[in-house]
Amino acid sequence: MTEIRERLIRRIRSEGPVSIAAYMAEALFDPREGFYATRDPIGAGADFITAPEVSQMFGELIGLWCVEAWRDMGAPDPFHLIELGPGRGTMMSDALRAARLDEGFARAARVHLVEASPALKNVQAQTLASAPFQIGWADALEDVPAGPSIILGNEFLDCLPLRQFVKHGGEWRERLIGFAPDTDDTLAFVLSHAPASALEIEQIAAPLRDAPEGALVETRPGDASLVDVIARRFHADPGRALLIDYGPADSETGDTFQAIKSHEKVDPLTDPGKADLTARVDFGALKRAAEAAGLSASAPVEQGAWLTALGIEQRAAALSMSGKADRGLIVRQLHRLTSDDQMGTLFKAMCLSAPELPSAPGF
Ligand code: SAH
Repeated sequence: MTEIRERLIRRIRSEGPVSIAAYMAEALFDPREGFYATRDPIGAGADFITAPEVSQMFGELIGLWCVEAWRDMGAPDPFHLIELGPGRGTMMSDALRAARLDEGFARAARVHLVEASPALKNVQAQTLASAPFQIGWADALEDVPAGPSIILGNEFLDCLPLRQFVKHGGEWRERLIGFAPDTDDTLAFVLSHAPASALEIEQIAAPLRDAPEGALVETRPGDASLVDVIARRFHADPGRALLIDYGPADSETGDTFQAIKSHEKVDPLTDPGKADLTARVDFGALKRAAEAAGLSASAPVEQGAWLTALGIEQRAAALSMSGKADRGLIVRQLHRLTSDDQMGTLFKAMCLSAPELPSAPGF
């Protein structure tokens, strides 16, 4: 049994059931056994694969997008180019290689990687060792110095803390992690005895609050606090945030909490620390939260349509012609990133901006 599991069992015995958010924090970031804290889980031979690991085209187009975003902001020098949860550092590496073609951008950019995992910080440092940029690390966005900023996050929101509530007897009750009936060591989902507080109910997406008996809804307190931090930054200095993740365009009911290990779905409660834990991002709730905080928020755009608008087909053709990469491989990468049966529609891009800025490329 993992130490994380033992500690959770002791905690539940003494304090009662814990929220899914608390469970995720332990399973993902426990310093000795946490899924992200201790290893590099990203890539074909590891646990899951992400768009920047599928193809260099993804990061390159994002780099060019950043140059446009920077010009829209009045080309501030210096400015902060911030990535949230950079994983292996591949997207930033590809983005910088493309964006560097604009010398002014290259001179002005101060790169900050916001990363909670010591293991992944190491991988990022290796990936970016030869990039001719000043690169620093921060544990949280709040720790990045003030100033104009462009913030990027790919598959960052989906692993931020999640809570679930079920309509039971006409009231919302939190779905927690406790013990299966008649055991004191088998983790299982249980319903809280107490109804949700008024504050908790307020965090449920407005269109879902009247959902019928038995409905399950998810709230994402981590996304909500991130939006607040971004809004504070962008009210002080101009900025844009590009957030790409998987999830529906607007709020939906249903349990989307999932665990992935070696590219397979597994039971999220079986082996805390051994699997990636994520849930769908609610882009409707994200947009409403950003607007309530005084930001302008684009509609979520499907990843396939967004990459196409940015010119991924032309980039694929140019790469094929260059002879540097195998044509068949590039076609497969393009398909993986953009087609409806792959990442093209499930994944969405959304841009949050300081309200005075024009709409961003591709939105
Ligand atoms: N963006 C990368 C990695 C996605 S995995 C890619 O697309 O390949 C999620 C990343 O976010 C990991 O680097 C993980 O360690 C980091 N992360 C998750 N929660 C975090 C938090 N609260 N603070 C900082 N980094 C976090």
